[in-house]
Amino acid sequence: MKKTFICCKSFVAKISLLAILLIGFSCQQPAEPRPDFVLVIHGGAGVIEASRMSVQQDSSYRAVLNEALATGSLVLESGGSAVDAVIAAILVMEDSPLFNAGKGAVYNEAGIIEHDASIMDGSDLSAGAVGSLRSIRNPILAAHRIMVDGRHVFMVAEGARQFAIQAGLETVDPQYFFDQNRWDNYERTRKTQLEKEFPVQSKHGTVGAVALDKSGNLAAATSTGGMHFKREGRLGDSPVIGAGTYADNLSCAVSATGHGEFFIRNAVAYDIAARMKYAGQSLQEAADEVVMEKLAALDAGGGIIAVDQQGNIAMPFNTSGMFRGYVVAGQKPVVKLFAGE
Ligand code: ASP
Repeated sequence: MKKTFICCKSFVAKISLLAILLIGFSCQQPAEPRPDFVLVIHGGAGVIEASRMSVQQDSSYRAVLNEALATGSLVLESGGSAVDAVIAAILVMEDSPLFNAGKGAVYNEAGIIEHDASIMDGSDLSAGAVGSLRSIRNPILAAHRIMVDGRHVFMVAEGARQFAIQAGLETVDPQYFFDQNRWDNYERTRKTQLEKEFPVQSKHGTVGAVALDKSGNLAAATSTGGMHFKREGRLGDSPVIGAGTYADNLSCAVSATGHGEFFIRNAVAYDIAARMKYAGQSLQEAADEVVMEKLAALDAGGGIIAVDQQGNIAMPFNTSGMFRGYVVAGQKPVVKLFAGE
């Protein structure tokens, strides 16, 4: 009798254990396999609203973003590095007059275009950055050459120009960067300045890209003409490693866009990476807290794009829109302009 009771008890125990295991097993999410590669891009954040954009403008922006994604993802697809992919994507946007980088850069107070750019390789933390370049066609290539050279990280103005020329990069006449719309904008601001009104930049057209390649390496890059009507010689966050750009295989790759002075003071890109590394936050938590809480509380408009080593993507922005898009291996590219899209 006693034996039967024990047997019965152990049978019930076994069944309950099995049930617990089965329930536990069915509730457990199968771990998402890491995608082969991921590419995320942005073309700036700010007052970007469907009501202020013509159908033509809307489709032009989407077309260039799609082209940048296609060009960068081709590199990743064929086994290229995250570094080469972010460069490829940025070159497309630097060569477009639509974005505030390369060809489409904004004018400073003196009516001159000064470009800034930076790049970082998350596999070894090597980095390169340039500031206040006036005649190098693709500033991101100059930043990359500095990174590969390895002696310095950050070079500006004439020294950076000379370095880029010696590295064989293409120089252009400043006229190459001329854009009537940007110039009209400059003239409008100059006139209001004479009336002692502070210029307001409603749209930041900086471009950026972050990528995860097939080898699991991360990279980030950013390129810009800086803030509209900035002082001559002013540098924003875009060329500052840790502020506008950061990549570390142990956390994530980040590229930012927005009011640079706030992004520098808050070491935005590094803050997101550090939260993941030291506080164990997920990419989304870290990015949201920095952009939607910390920066928003300071009234610092802008956003970031980021990817981590598992291929998770975050693209928070606290403005009405951000030109953005991503490709995940095996999936269709996605491009978005407005909030809530
Ligand atoms: N962050 C850039 C800067 O402050 C501007 C932008 O994102 O458009 O120079």
